Amino acid sequence: MNYEPVIGLEVHVQLKTKSKLFCSCSTEFGAEGNQHTCPVCLGWPGSLPVLNEAALKLAIRVGLALNCKVAERLKFDRKNYFYPDLPKAYQISQYDMPVNGRGWLDIETRTGLGTRDSGLEIRRIGITRAHLEEDAGKLLHEGIADGSLVDYNRGGIPLLEIVSEPDLGSPQEAYDYLTALKAILQYLEVSDCDMEKGSLRCDANVSVRPVSQEKFGTKVEIKNLNSFKMVQKAIQYEIERQTEALVNGETIVQETRLWNDAKGTTFSMRSKEEAHDYRYFPEPDLVPFTLSRETVEEVRKTLPELPLERAKRFIKEFGIPEYDAYVLVQEKKLANYFESCVREGANAKLASNWVQNELLALLNAKNITIEHCAVSPHALAGLIRLVEKGTLSGKTAKDVLQEMAATGKTAEAIVKEKGLTQVSDTGLIEKAVEKAIAANPAAVAEFKAGKQKALGALVGAVMKETGGKANPKLVNEILINKLGTRSS
Ligand code: ADP
Ligand code: ZN
Ligand code: MG
Repeated sequence: MNYEPVIGLEVHVQLKTKSKLFCSCSTEFGAEGNQHTCPVCLGWPGSLPVLNEAALKLAIRVGLALNCKVAERLKFDRKNYFYPDLPKAYQISQYDMPVNGRGWLDIETRTGLGTRDSGLEIRRIGITRAHLEEDAGKLLHEGIADGSLVDYNRGGIPLLEIVSEPDLGSPQEAYDYLTALKAILQYLEVSDCDMEKGSLRCDANVSVRPVSQEKFGTKVEIKNLNSFKMVQKAIQYEIERQTEALVNGETIVQETRLWNDAKGTTFSMRSKEEAHDYRYFPEPDLVPFTLSRETVEEVRKTLPELPLERAKRFIKEFGIPEYDAYVLVQEKKLANYFESCVREGANAKLASNWVQNELLALLNAKNITIEHCAVSPHALAGLIRLVEKGTLSGKTAKDVLQEMAATGKTAEAIVKEKGLTQVSDTGLIEKAVEKAIAANPAAVAEFKAGKQKALGALVGAVMKETGGKANPKLVNEILINKLGTRSS
């Protein structure tokens, strides 16, 4: 029997407000422990929560971008559980009247395959809901011999929980969904989306079922996933584990499991029987309220161009391949950089390649972000123009880029200083080609015997002779020409 996976994701994202969801405490990251606290977020008796309007608007912003039905009536509820990260012993969340109801997210599902030749392949993933709630405090266990410490600075920071329908069909698709969702959140400027700082978190729900069966299998929830790659790996592991169990005639128990990244396995944290009964009930200190359609429309007017729209525009406006466009737009800053580069006069296809390959490699090697790169879009456009004109070979241009990053100089200045101009003088190249042919009779014979590879040695010899400056396209043409005419 064949089994297929069913996957749904729950993403928690911290909304980037100045103050917390129900009090005026700062949300700033990295402060000393428990400095950003007050009677409200510490849950002192008699304190009253007041909803942060900015957080509500950010939530609506996300809801609209995810095509959700934004609620007309909203309510907050208490989700009760006893744990030291929660000073009130309940979390203010939303149960049956969330701010954002059903919606969807279109994702490109081909990105993982790396095929570049056909069009965008869009799959629509259902969004169940996206509701507002407050974050919990943070427990610190490490390096503390006796007990644990708790930091309530995080407690009360606004979170949006975005729940997907069980529409994802593979670990890759889950990865692509997260990538697309994160890109949208970044475009919306609603969150830092930094998994390391915990401003973006994800739990994965996985089940498997016989391919012919309509009813879903029993799901397992996986927590402790600190990167998208971990989400992908954990889902893959869980699919294999569950499939094997079913093949062996075992039943899957509904439970919460944790991912152990070092071992590459999941292990049981608690079963359904041990699961919390949250005893949700309406938060009496925050009355249900009506959200005016004007407010929603006001928020809608401020929505920016979103990644998928931008990819479609790049394809149409700049004529770059669909795959390139989609990959580029996932990182807003990279896409901005690319777009500036093209506006500065660079050839779009070349710019797309240079930004995605050489520039990214440079940033990785230097371990810096694009804002800290010494090469401006204007400067890269200058370099690309020299490549396009044939002044620089691709290889020399890569060296020039390194130099630009190190010195902040323009490509033109470096080329002038070092006399790097590519030799496109056919007379000069012809002489070097003749010399190479004369000096490498073995390679010539091999080439004539049909060994294409032998050409490489001859090209190398010409490049050496010209100090690496010869235009490689011309070298190839002239070489083949000369070798061809001699053999006939
Ligand atoms: P719970 O009540 O346990 O939180 P929900 O119905 O709220 O469960 O679903 C939580 C997440 O689990 C959602 O993202 C949903 O798409 C996903 N999900 C629900 N049922 C399944 C299933 N059988 N297999 C995989 N994922 C599922
Ligand atoms: Zn507070
Ligand atoms: Mg749930």
